[in-house]
Amino acid sequence: MAVPKERIPKARRDRRRAHLALARPVLTPCPQCHQSKRPHHVCRNCGYYHGREVVVTE
Ligand SMILES: [Zn+2]
Repeated sequence: MAVPKERIPKARRDRRRAHLALARPVLTPCPQCHQSKRPHHVCRNCGYYHGREVVVTE
């Protein structure tokens, strides 16, 4: 089994983990139905993107 050569101090371990937090998704109001949606994505509520309806396949 691989064993660490040196103990990683709590401060160094925590400093490494400072970048691990999940980013909160960006939400903007849909111009069609005014529900929150992610920018540059088809609206999940009304299925519109750039003023026209888009076929949503999932
Ligand atoms: Zn919408």
